[in-house]
Amino acid sequence: MQNAGYEAYIVGGSVRDLLLGKAPKDFDVATSATPEEVQDVFPRCRLIGRRFRLAHVRKGGALIEVATFRGQATPENSQEDHNGRILRDNVFGSVEEDAIRRDFTINAMFLDPVSGDIRDYVGGYEDLAKRRLRLIGDPVTRYREDPVRLLRAARFVAKLGVEPDEESAAPIRKMAPLLKDIPPARLFEEVCKLFLTGHGSRSMEALQRFGLSTILFPSLKKGNGPGKVLMGPMLKKALENTDERVRDSKPVTPAFLFAALLWQPVRDRSRALVGKGESEFNAMMLASEEVIYAQVGSTAIPRRFSAVTRQIWTTQPRFAKIRGKRWRRILHEPRFRAAYDFLLLRAYEDPSLSELCEFWTKAQVGMDFSPPARSKRERPRRRYRRSGSSQSGSTR
Ligand code: ATP
Ligand code: MG
Repeated sequence: MQNAGYEAYIVGGSVRDLLLGKAPKDFDVATSATPEEVQDVFPRCRLIGRRFRLAHVRKGGALIEVATFRGQATPENSQEDHNGRILRDNVFGSVEEDAIRRDFTINAMFLDPVSGDIRDYVGGYEDLAKRRLRLIGDPVTRYREDPVRLLRAARFVAKLGVEPDEESAAPIRKMAPLLKDIPPARLFEEVCKLFLTGHGSRSMEALQRFGLSTILFPSLKKGNGPGKVLMGPMLKKALENTDERVRDSKPVTPAFLFAALLWQPVRDRSRALVGKGESEFNAMMLASEEVIYAQVGSTAIPRRFSAVTRQIWTTQPRFAKIRGKRWRRILHEPRFRAAYDFLLLRAYEDPSLSELCEFWTKAQVGMDFSPPARSKRERPRRRYRRSGSSQSGSTR
């Protein structure tokens, strides 16, 4: 881009991560060129996004998001809802303007990869050195513009070990209810970034500390303090295991994550239904249905994941039925492994399950769990992957 005569910088999380000595997951580029001009330079790039367009450039296997500098949203050029949340803003601007509309100072540095210079208009360099998380501008206004920044604050605390300064931390708890207006699909993405990228336990700690957990998971029992949920030993263990899997580069899936996160209400509800005379299996089916239905009001859970979450839950009562021969069937079901792992987790809160765990562990001996040859019509199983898009978008 620079060779073509434009200003262009690496920006945002990748600069921050480089300065922290971490390998960035991806690189975002900010440029003075419009998306069309980017396309002139990289004819094979893809222009994406309808409202806020950016260019996806593939280089050496990496996907680089190239966005034009954006200017400040003003009442004349943008739209807000009644809470001050910005619904539309798509004005091009200068590099300096692009800096100040970003969220935190540590996310607003521009690196010129040719000269090695860093442009820092907001004091991000010093904040990062001091491990300080600071919103650019007036925190209350900035959280109002885009309440997802509340969750991002918690995420960066967990991921980077930074601490918000007093002004950025103080409004979080009170403003948390604004998250109810955020489209559930966007919150699902955030939950995945919070819990499936290797720092899930610390994310939960941060959410609890800032009083954000009850907003994300309203069906969990209220915990000790405002905005906190009750965390059992099983959920703690599940988050630790997930972090470990990420560290070991093993796949993780939102299906299992939500199974663990929402087990407490599912278990309690199904017990209540059994008390009213439902069979264990029906009770679990009904409870699963209800709890997922309630959750998708806060965070979406795409059906391909929630279907698996349900199967994990509804297999649990079936694990207890080990007389006769029918139990063998479960071993061959596609979700056996996930359901079995879940049973092992449950033993953390219910030690009386340990015999059952042992039974099912032994039952697998000699079994081949390599994946069956795929028939032509079967689609590949999808696992959660971070969506490629990382451009700031107060309104995406
Ligand atoms: P990570 O990639 O680790 O999740 P990140 O900082 O790169 O962290 P992204 O969501 O990839 O986060 O966003 C890239 C950059 O876009 C951020 O660094 C920030 O400058 C800007 N940005 C993202 N979300 C927002 C937002 N809600 N408000 C303002 N700026 C944002
Ligand atoms: Mg990023």
